[in-house]
Amino acid sequence: MNIRDKFKEKKLVFSFEVFPPKNTSPVKTIYKALNDLVKLNPDFISVTYGAGGSLTNNKTSELASLIKNVYGLESLAHLTCISSTKEDIDKLTERLNLEEVNNILALRGDDLGNTRGDFSYANELMNYIKSKGDFNIIGACYPEGHIDNKNISLEVDNLERKIENGATSFISQLFFDNNAYYKFLEEVSKRNIDIPIQAGIMPVVNGKQIKRITELCKASIPLKFRKIMEKYEGSPEALREAGIAYAVEQIIDLSSSDVSGIHLYTMNNPYVAKRISENIDTIINEINRRA
Ligand code: FAD
Repeated sequence: MNIRDKFKEKKLVFSFEVFPPKNTSPVKTIYKALNDLVKLNPDFISVTYGAGGSLTNNKTSELASLIKNVYGLESLAHLTCISSTKEDIDKLTERLNLEEVNNILALRGDDLGNTRGDFSYANELMNYIKSKGDFNIIGACYPEGHIDNKNISLEVDNLERKIENGATSFISQLFFDNNAYYKFLEEVSKRNIDIPIQAGIMPVVNGKQIKRITELCKASIPLKFRKIMEKYEGSPEALREAGIAYAVEQIIDLSSSDVSGIHLYTMNNPYVAKRISENIDTIINEINRRA
């Protein structure tokens, strides 16, 4: 079932994100992880697109097709435009059409100084993709503002631009402070925008991860979260447990506040995804039962 229809059918959509292995890693690492993730039966699994249009791109459509056609689960292929020409997009969308991968997360991508693309922004890519097949188009959004622009009102302008160009739902950048997400939803609803915005949740289970992530996306770190990370920094197992517990607490709070979806950044770690899923399954089932 198309992701757009899942939002119509379910009160709370729960999905995973995976990334293709680097060319230096054996491809079997992702097969094993995927096999385990699929067993957790999320509503869909998204597959990222290599930053800067790197060589992982073919793997994105390959893995999205595997999820859809072999595992029988809905998949979402990420696609960035900052370093893609119209020809590149034509080839990729042709391939996705052929593989019956119907959902695309249309993104600009980060500016790594290798911009050779025909599109400057995600909304332009969305508009182009519309003419390439019957794709369900999804966009990214940033509850704490985008790294190039921290102004929330401009971020909501961009959301409107993406909706005008075909986006049917959004997945948010990761955040650790649910209040930032709730404030963003308030701003969105002030403009009378009524569209599913999935909350992006990243379980932080090791110290290196937190530094890298916050440098990359500048998510704000609540004091409670910082204290946990500092307290258990020297103990990988304790930190992993604390990271899982924090993500579960975030998700339970979000679910109780009627969000339309949760997107879990799994970091290809089925153990962590399983632990989180086990903790929230009953809650998600109850919410969907009441729908
Ligand atoms: P856009 O919506 O184009 O916005 C980029 C900036 O331009 C914003 O500051 C916006 O306000 C501004 N802007 C947009 N339109 C206009 C306009 N018309 N005029 C003036 N300013 C404008 N990156 C990858 O490389 N691969 C991935 O697989 C990937 N997956 C992601 C998944 C999610 C859920 C998220 C949240 C991000 C992901 N990213 C990925 C990162 C993303 O590519 C970067 O955050 C990128 O910098 C912005 O992409 P966007 O699609 O949001 O861009």
